Amino acid sequence: MHDFLPSDQALHEALQQLIDAKNAPGTPHGDPVAPLDLPEALPAHGIGGRAALAALAGPALTRPTRVDHPGFFAHMDPPTPWVTWAATQWAAAMNQNLLHTDSAPAARLLERRAIEWLAPVFGMDGGHLVPGSSLANLTALWAARDAAGVRRVIASEVAHVSVAKAARILGLPLTTVPVDAAQRMRADLLPDDLSDAAVVLTAGTTATGAVDPLDAASTARWRHVDAAWAGPLRLSSHTAVLDGIERADSVAVSAHKLLYQPKESALVLFADAAAAHDALSFGGGYLAVPNIGLQGSHGAAALPLLATLLAWGRDGLGARIDADLALAERLAARIAAEPELELFAPSVTGVVAWRPRHADPTAVRERMTDVWVSTTVIGAQTWFRSVAANPFADPDLVVDAVLAALG
Ligand SMILES: *Cc1c(COP(=O)(O)O)cnc(C)c1O
Repeated sequence: MHDFLPSDQALHEALQQLIDAKNAPGTPHGDPVAPLDLPEALPAHGIGGRAALAALAGPALTRPTRVDHPGFFAHMDPPTPWVTWAATQWAAAMNQNLLHTDSAPAARLLERRAIEWLAPVFGMDGGHLVPGSSLANLTALWAARDAAGVRRVIASEVAHVSVAKAARILGLPLTTVPVDAAQRMRADLLPDDLSDAAVVLTAGTTATGAVDPLDAASTARWRHVDAAWAGPLRLSSHTAVLDGIERADSVAVSAHKLLYQPKESALVLFADAAAAHDALSFGGGYLAVPNIGLQGSHGAAALPLLATLLAWGRDGLGARIDADLALAERLAARIAAEPELELFAPSVTGVVAWRPRHADPTAVRERMTDVWVSTTVIGAQTWFRSVAANPFADPDLVVDAVLAALG
């Protein structure tokens, strides 16, 4: 009746299914067409845990897009290291709620330790975990409004859509600033008076990985750096790409991108976390400690993050990021050497925009089976986009498949 504890072997079997699926090849773009083989309405009677997992193994384990496939050179979604699989399972089983000190004393310490390790990397003095940088951007701009009195938001025209969402939610007008040919904010076109503005600088734009001049807008009331993608480069040999980030008032970093974490894991960090958190705090009632930020109940996302940082260390993480960026550089070099292909720009943060010179990228992509790239629109034109988040990606396999699909 209870079914809260596994029968002998059931959990081991589930784990073995996962390992078997990971060892099977899979496809780089999943299987979007096969219908789900599940009841269409809520089942009246249960079939038990083992049968439930058997029913879900197809969609969960064999059909997914394989972000670790050698032909997957597409999105900002990395494969996750095995320690995060185990740590995530531990967190699910213990189900701590970080909202309460009394029910999650150790889990709260773990999150604090993760912040203590990572905030100084960006010159920040604290912050907290959120489920993604969309929410990190919203949280940071909320602090900018309520802790610093910001009355408007300014970002480049290619800033992430979450900046526009945040401005809308917060009731702050958003002004966009044009970008240069390399997709960086034209800092010379910023308004002269920034005394009431939060300026969002992007470190690693979603489309091309460009980094805005991070020393711009020094007179802004608040400077937020959206480093969702490129933030972790601060731990790699590419650290100089982010010089200036340490002078921000707040920073967003998605751990589920280049820190190789399972979703949903990100950090919002502040130069003065006490003041920012004070503006984001709600207390009273049954809460023993103030509730800080957007989330109420939240779980121990810090556990897989700490497991990864402990397992790899700063040097190991940096080496893995370097290796990923080297794949982007190899891809870009190969594209530049192929007369049929056009490279948008050299890779700055591991995002490569490219396209066939004489064929429609969308049509070419549809003809490919063993490789996968994403697409992006730059100006009004569609380009392929390949993101260096997959350590197993094979740049030559990807380029050869595109050349073959040109016909
Ligand atoms: C991915 C990304 C975001 C949004 O982060 P999520 O973690 O997906 O919510 C914001 N800004 C930039 C530049 C990004 O690349």
